[in-house]
Parts: sequence; C-alpha cells; structure tokens
Amino acid sequence: MRGVRAVTVTPGVPNSLRLVDDHPEPPAEEGAILVEALAVGICATDHEIVSGGYGEAPPGATALVLGHESLGRVVEDPTGTLRPGDLVAGIVRHPDPVPCPNCAVGEWDMCRNGRYTEHGIKALPGFARDQWRVEPGFAVRLDPALAPVGMLLEPTSVVAKAWDHIERIGARAEWQPRTVLVTGAGPIGLLAALLATQRGLAVHVLDLATAGPKPELVRALGATYHAEPVTQLDLQPDVLVECTGAPTVVLDAMCAVGPTGIVCLTGVSSGGRTIDFDAGALNRELVLENNVVFGSVNANRRHWELAADALAHADQGWLASLITRRVPVGAYAEAYTPSSDDIKVVLDFTA
Ligand SMILES: [Zn+2]
Repeated sequence: MRGVRAVTVTPGVPNSLRLVDDHPEPPAEEGAILVEALAVGICATDHEIVSGGYGEAPPGATALVLGHESLGRVVEDPTGTLRPGDLVAGIVRHPDPVPCPNCAVGEWDMCRNGRYTEHGIKALPGFARDQWRVEPGFAVRLDPALAPVGMLLEPTSVVAKAWDHIERIGARAEWQPRTVLVTGAGPIGLLAALLATQRGLAVHVLDLATAGPKPELVRALGATYHAEPVTQLDLQPDVLVECTGAPTVVLDAMCAVGPTGIVCLTGVSSGGRTIDFDAGALNRELVLENNVVFGSVNANRRHWELAADALAHADQGWLASLITRRVPVGAYAEAYTPSSDDIKVVLDFTA
C-alpha cells in the first residue's frame, strides 16, 4: 500500500505535532466516496489539541489525524451520490452508538450522552491528509465556485445551527427582529454576522481590535464595527450572538438584549475564574423581558446544507479575505503556530 501525507498528533502530548508521509491510504470501511484533499482550516480547537489539552485518538491508535474543517474533490463515488470532480466537505460529528434520542433522528449536534465521535477531534481520523473517505450521508457538496474558500463550510455550519435555533426560539411568539449584535470578530463572529446580513438585519459587531483586518471586514458586510465594551453601546439588539467566550463579555451580553431578546452563546470559556456579578438583577431582567439565553455547538446535516447555501450566496471576495494565511502542507508547523493577525489559517494540500 502506498502512503499519504497526514498531519498527526498524539493526544494529550504537547508538541507531538507531526507531518507523516507514509500514513495508510483511507480504508474502504471509512466510506464509499474517495476524496482528494484540497485544504483544511485551522481553529482554536486544533490549537488546543496540539497543546495536548484536548483530543482523542481512534480506538487502538495512539495518534490522531488532525483536521475537521475540510475541503476536497471527489475522486470516485460508486454510490453515484456525487460525481468525480465535485467539491465536497465531510461532516465532523457522527452519532453516538446507543443512539440517544437526538442522534437517533440525525440531530447529533444535540447528543445527550456525549458518546458522539468527531473527525480530527474525538476518536475519528481527521481530514488533514492527502486522501480521505466519507459515506454519502456525511458528505456535503459545495458550489464549484467555492473552491478557494470551501473549507469555511464547517465554521459556517456552526453559525447556521446557531441561527436555526435563534429562529426556532423566536418563533415562540410574534417575532420581528431588526437588530443583531455579534460579540467577537473572529471567523465564527464574522460568519455569524454574514448570516445576519443575509437575513436583512441591521448588524453590529463588537471586538477589541482597532487595527488589523477586522474593522474593514465588518464594514465590507455593510455592518457597524464597535471597539468599546458592550455596556457602553447605545443599542438594545433583538438578537445577540456571543462568540468570544470571555466571561465579562458573556455576562454583559446576557444583560444587553432588548425585551423578548435572544442571546446565543457560542464561545467556549476556559473556566476557573470568578467574577462578582449581580445574578438577581440578571434573573429579574430575563423574567420581566421574556429573554432567552442559550448555548449552541456543532451542527447537523441540515445546518451543513444551509451553510453551503449561505456560502454560495455570499461575496466570494469577502469570504476569501477571511483567509489571512494559506500555508503549504510542507510548512505545517507554521500553520499551527497562531499569530495575532490571523483570522483563518488554511493548510493547503495542493501546494
Ligand atoms: Zn447522541
């Protein structure tokens, strides 16, 4: 068997990041569709895995292939679902084996028992290798025009789920949202803002950065950029999408929405820090204004399809400008070294 290149780590072992060039070709049982990798996107979860703080190798293995933000081109699909040459991304999460009530109906993003698996994160090999395989049910076709930016589909699926749930919650009563505030202008925040503009909402984005590409990326969406704290904004948004996970921003966000407001939390905090906070005042406001605060993570197939549609209808130049570094796979170590100017770093398998 010939080998393929793969970026791997030994989960739990810091600095175990490697590029191996003799990784086994993807076995047939991994899926009917054979895919040639074009790129993977890198995010904070990858950094956490590389630092040894997260991640789980497949059963019986010590190494985990990284990469959950995939983009590839179909080589062969004997099922006829996709055609050779089609652009494709692989869905990250697979349902737990029990399955729980949610996984049983394809809502694995809402898994109740935590026994789900995830490519490149938890017990399934990732997509940072020259070739991978995927079952048709976990393959998402992308518009051919998305070849330069299609690795943004995974983070977009996360915000497509967030918006899906915001709208489901909004539908509990008459709901005509006009204004949204997004806190954090990283990839998730910017993509959440993109989906907000596609809904015709007045979009505000808040981030600490006053230099770098973020302010201009927000303005290019037709949205308003703010670099001051949430509490200093003269704004009562109908929806707030929190993407920083920073405890003080999260607490300010929960108090910032107007009556019948919805706060969607998407940022993962590290915990361990305590803050003096008037919980009674927050409770009073949530009750008296019928406000909702909820958390959102991951995405199911429906959200991946919604995300593919959202990307296909977005300005391709704007999407491309989210990718601040494209690193050839041979220089993989550079790609996994964060820099303060990064928005999205992409590992390029065609170089
Ligand atoms: Zn489950």
